[in-house]
Amino acid sequence: MDLIVQRPEGLYCPAGNFYIDPWRPVARAVITHAHSDHARQGHQHYLAAHPSEGVLRSRLGDITLQTLAYGEIINHHGVRLSLHPAGHVLGSAQVRVEHGGQVWVASGDYFVSGEDDSNNTCEPFDPIRCHCFITESTFGLPIYRWAPQRAVFDDINQWWRRNAQAGRASLLMGYSFGKAQRILAGVDASIGPIVVHGAVEPLNHAYRAAGVALPATLHATELDKAAIGRALIVAPPSVQGSAWTKRFGDYSDAFASGWMQLRGARRRRAVDRGFVLSDHADWPGLQRAIAATGAERVIVTHGYEAIMVRWLEEQGLQAGAFQTEYDDERLATADAPGDPAPAAETESAA
Ligand SMILES: [Zn+2]
Ligand SMILES: [Zn+2]
Repeated sequence: MDLIVQRPEGLYCPAGNFYIDPWRPVARAVITHAHSDHARQGHQHYLAAHPSEGVLRSRLGDITLQTLAYGEIINHHGVRLSLHPAGHVLGSAQVRVEHGGQVWVASGDYFVSGEDDSNNTCEPFDPIRCHCFITESTFGLPIYRWAPQRAVFDDINQWWRRNAQAGRASLLMGYSFGKAQRILAGVDASIGPIVVHGAVEPLNHAYRAAGVALPATLHATELDKAAIGRALIVAPPSVQGSAWTKRFGDYSDAFASGWMQLRGARRRRAVDRGFVLSDHADWPGLQRAIAATGAERVIVTHGYEAIMVRWLEEQGLQAGAFQTEYDDERLATADAPGDPAPAAETESAA
C-alpha cells in the first residue's frame, strides 16, 4: 500500500491519517515550511520543525502547533514520522514516514545545487534513504544550473559598490521570506547602510531569534538622507514601481531569483540587473538529491513534472507525478499578507 497518496485536500498518509502541506483545511497537517502556499490557514492541528515556529506563528497567528526537533521521531497510529532539514528556508523540512517496512520521504521545497553550496541561513539539506522519494521540481530542467553562491554575491557586491561610488541607491528585490535573508547574510555590509522593507523585517526578526546572523538593518524612515546614495535596499518584488521607492531618488534596481536565468524573465521584470539566486535545487542538485536517497520510486511535484518523470524513467526508476496546488518563486508565495500582490509572471520556460 502507498504510504502517501494524493487527495483533493493535499498529499495524504492513509496509515497515519494526516496531510502534508494540504491546500484545503484538514484536521492534522504536517507543514514542510512556512511559505504561504505550503503553510495555509485553517487546519485544526499543525506539526512542523521547531526552527520554523517563529515564522509560522508570525504568518498564521494563533494556531495549534506542535514542533519537532530535526530527526526527532514520533509515532502516530503506528506510523513513525520525523522531519529532516531541506535547506530551503529557516525551519524547512523533509517529512520521513515509515510504516510496514516501507520508508517514504516527501521533500517539500529544498535547496541543493550541483556546486556543493548550501544555504547559510538554515540547516543544509540532509539526504534520507527511502524506498519512495516525493521530490519538488521547481527548476527541473537542464537549463537551470546555479553558479557558486560566492560568485553571485561577488556580483551583487560589485553592483552595490559601483552604485555607491556613483551616489545611487541600490534596490534589490527578492521574496520577503527566505530570499531576503539569504541576500542579507551574503552581502558585504561594509559597503553602506542596509534598509529593509516593512514586509521583510518581521522575518528578519524570526531569523535572528533562531540564531541566524544577519547584518544590522534600518527601516526606510531611519535612513539618513545623506546616506541614501550608498544604501542597499532589500524589498519584496511588490515594491517595483510603487510610491514607496520614490524616497530613494535615482536608484538602480535588481531582482534576485532562480528565474533570472531566463533572459525573457529579466526583460519582463524590466530591472537593471538580474541575479540568479534560488532557494530551490537546480537540475544537477535535483539529480544528486534523488540519487542520494537510493529510492527506486520517485514521485515528482511542483513543476516540470513530465520532463523530470521522463528523465527518471530513463534512469531505470519507477516515476510518477502528483498534481499539487503549490505556487513557486514566480508568484507571491513569500510576501507577507497585506502586501500589494506582485504581478504574477507567466513564464513558459522551455
Ligand atoms: Zn518554499
Ligand atoms: Zn513551494
